[in-house]
Amino acid sequence: MERDGSGVSALLGLDGFAVCAQLLEAATGEWWLAVETTEDRGWCERCGIRAVGHGRRRVVVRDLPLADRPVVLVWSKRLWCCPEPVCPTRTWSEESDQIAPRAVLTERARAEIARRVGPDEHSVAQAARDFGVSWHAAMAAVRDHGRPRVDHLARLGAPSAVGLDETSFLAATAEHPTMLATGIIDLDSGRLVDVLPARSAVAVTDWLAAKPAPWLAGIRHVVIDPYQPYATAVAKGLPNARLVVDHFHVIRLANAALDEVRRRTQNDTLGHRGRKHDPLYRIRRRLLASHDRLDPTGFARVLAWLDAGDPQGEVGAAYLAKELLRETYLATNALEARRRLVAFYQYCTSSDVPELERLARTITRWEVPILRWHRTRLTNAATEGTNLIIKNIKRLGFGFRNFDNYRLRLLLRCGTPWQTRQVASIRPRHPRISA
Ligand SMILES: [Zn+2]
Repeated sequence: MERDGSGVSALLGLDGFAVCAQLLEAATGEWWLAVETTEDRGWCERCGIRAVGHGRRRVVVRDLPLADRPVVLVWSKRLWCCPEPVCPTRTWSEESDQIAPRAVLTERARAEIARRVGPDEHSVAQAARDFGVSWHAAMAAVRDHGRPRVDHLARLGAPSAVGLDETSFLAATAEHPTMLATGIIDLDSGRLVDVLPARSAVAVTDWLAAKPAPWLAGIRHVVIDPYQPYATAVAKGLPNARLVVDHFHVIRLANAALDEVRRRTQNDTLGHRGRKHDPLYRIRRRLLASHDRLDPTGFARVLAWLDAGDPQGEVGAAYLAKELLRETYLATNALEARRRLVAFYQYCTSSDVPELERLARTITRWEVPILRWHRTRLTNAATEGTNLIIKNIKRLGFGFRNFDNYRLRLLLRCGTPWQTRQVASIRPRHPRISA
């Protein structure tokens, strides 16, 4: 065991503590550092008299690694005693902001765990292993150091546009159906503002009602999927904001109608669901792709299989309707887009295909917020990156059972700015080590 730890104390850099001995544990490769506080005087809080020493108590905690080695601090905690005979205070032990009572980790190690689990996307189990503590101790560190960041009002920023996007939280099991969540995204910065444990008007209305009025007033546009409860909640909670329907979801409606027509036709003509060699089943993916991505050979094959499997021409009609709807997005302005929409409606209503008539009615209902895309170009597509991260975090957590933990981790990863210390290049600087 080495005595005199003044150099080690500087390296440790734990304010108010000095290293008095160090030992490199050969078996585990851990640094065991004996530390004590540098303040060696104490006063009675009640009567103000200078206290006298009353022995020490050992406290063992884990700290940040030093040069990649795990560090264990053995803190000889000072115990104090008030010498004033009439003072009711007898003995107490010193306290430190760096090591909480009964802690197994220093506060800075706990903050590091929150950072690893947050922006670095480590699993809680991984962080717990790295610091040699239990999963619960690591998760408590994430909660204690993560929540203040997540709850901080400044984190809300001042977006002029937000997006509401559904995301599945838990896949269905025997006990419960798939649980859906609503993600709220700042479309100016791409940051996740919050995750709500439902996909309902009430969830969004309640969330909006709890936000400061100036923040709400700054929001001019809200991008949603064509989902009525979201529209209802926005109309109630953000009466001055304008709705924009996300164009990706509009195309998805047309694709869903096309798929329905294809499945119905398959059933009508073959009497069973699509199988590998059925004409329409072969081209099911190609039908959904955008037409301009098909080369002439590809399109010739689509036409040939439609000839074989679509005697009434209904699948072909749904394909054309989908393309007409897509074309509205190629219009250079809202007026032209509106003209193209009218052509789409006329085509659908005269097609005699019930799925297309219904699609036209749905699009008509959402026409104003659909066309608003042509003026704002706002879309939730920017949040696709966020959705990838959400998937990754779900995979790491092996499916979260606790929504609060899930929300906290998502917000720490995609919704909270983290300052990283700037590291200067070592070359141009010459620290006066040798002086
Ligand atoms: Zn006292």
